[in-house]
Amino acid sequence: MPAPRNAGTAVNGQSTATATTVRTVQNYIGGRWVDSSATEFGEVRNPATDQLIARVPMGGAADVDAAVKAAAKAYATWRTTPAVERVKPMFALKNLMEKHFDDVARVITREHGKTLDESRGSVRRAIDNVDLSLGAPDRLMGTSLEDIAHGIDCHTVRQPLGVFAAITPFNFPAMVPLWFLPHAVTSGNTFIVKPSERVPLSQVRIFELMHDAGFPAGVVNMVNGAKDAVDGILDHPGIAGVSFVGSSPVAHYVYKRAAEKGKRVQALGGAKNFVVVMPDADMERAASISTESCFGCAGERCLANSIVLAVGDAYDKIRDRLVSEAKSLKVGNGEEPGVTMGPVITKQHREKVLGYIEQGIKEGAKLLLDGRGFKDPKHPDGYFLGPSIFDEVTPDMVIGREEIFGPVLVIMRAKDFDEAVELVRKHELGNATSIFTNSGKYAREYRYRVEPSMLGVNIGVAAPMAFFPFGGAKGSFYGDLKAHGRDAVEFFTDKKVVISRWF
Ligand code: NAD
Repeated sequence: MPAPRNAGTAVNGQSTATATTVRTVQNYIGGRWVDSSATEFGEVRNPATDQLIARVPMGGAADVDAAVKAAAKAYATWRTTPAVERVKPMFALKNLMEKHFDDVARVITREHGKTLDESRGSVRRAIDNVDLSLGAPDRLMGTSLEDIAHGIDCHTVRQPLGVFAAITPFNFPAMVPLWFLPHAVTSGNTFIVKPSERVPLSQVRIFELMHDAGFPAGVVNMVNGAKDAVDGILDHPGIAGVSFVGSSPVAHYVYKRAAEKGKRVQALGGAKNFVVVMPDADMERAASISTESCFGCAGERCLANSIVLAVGDAYDKIRDRLVSEAKSLKVGNGEEPGVTMGPVITKQHREKVLGYIEQGIKEGAKLLLDGRGFKDPKHPDGYFLGPSIFDEVTPDMVIGREEIFGPVLVIMRAKDFDEAVELVRKHELGNATSIFTNSGKYAREYRYRVEPSMLGVNIGVAAPMAFFPFGGAKGSFYGDLKAHGRDAVEFFTDKKVVISRWF
């Protein structure tokens, strides 16, 4: 069947056929693109150019309810569909995503701003999750034990739970929803995605592919909006569980409110990640890998190591190298070849990051590299910032404590390894961390003693692949089962224990 596209409504007198058409995003409910019932709309702008590219409806409980009804109706049949059949549309989705790989990457770059290479990397990670979910017939197998007592056998079966929903952030618009949806759906649940209102178009493109992949109506759904849509999800009695990814205050709110309503919840929050550099590290590599970690995706990455914690005389060896590595970044429109750092997400976010830089100066940190004045002459209206590096930052400073989520690196010092461990342990967040060292002893000690649960040894971005669990610790994560890996099977199914005796 030809795919009905989410062409939306053309505005500004432009035709829907032009690349610059401003469209109004629709919801995808019950296998069809439908208008939201919202009366308010947000704007989606290309961060590199400030061009308006879409209007997004600020839907609420009514749209969520329509999606839940469609998903619940589909669940009745999907739940009884054998796993080997359920993976077929997912397999078709995999092929379609491979076929349209670059097209999806371009949509991400256009609405988010990251470079095309960064977008491609995230599409690959999204597909990795689709791939993993194709193993559902194997992954969903239960266990059994004969003769738990004389003549009595016991086995477990995994069963889906109903309708699940994901509420996702702006920074990985194609990938993060697919950390959840493929695993939930091949496990027999039906699903609703509420993408970030700042970047809905990547999911629109993926839902167009899902439509073509042939999922039965209502198995996969998308609702657009912001807080009202989120609250509609958290409060809806027809939703069995919620996966959230975003900032820590909202993660905490989602966790509490959804758990209170008796739902399963996994809520992944924000980050302030340390990279500890030991004096024995390979400094050239530590500097270039840490720079990439901090400034990749313009610092809008929950795995960005945004604090370099230099131990002892590592400080003198790495400081200038970090500055020269950062200076070599090419800032610009992520669609252009050679650009290694794109703009930040919105004008408002740029102002927020600038505010942090001002704050750092006020607090007495030393600005070694100032990215505030950067301008791209080709795109004077883009939300660009050059890389900034602060030195002499202490843990009590705002820029040493809070997640900036922009291209700002702070350098702190620790007199020895123990002090470095203490500083990492003291921070309220614990998403990810890395250590650069040539000592197996320090690497092992570090892993043993610090809490962040995604940890790199001589790695800048410790991103677990689809077959490992993804999620942090402390204030960076609320819940117990993390995203993807084996945890996904646990989160999206219940284990039923059957004890039988035959007379
Ligand atoms: P955000 O918390 O502002 O938004 C995330 C989602 O929550 C969006 O869908 C948004 O519509 C919704 N939302 C926002 N405010 C809300 C409110 N008051 N009530 C209810 N819902 C609300 O996050 P963001 O700015 O889109 O994303 C950046 C954040 O996400 C950073 O803190 C980053 O570290 C974090 N993040 C974490 C991970 C991880 O794996 N831990 C991954 C990616 C991003």
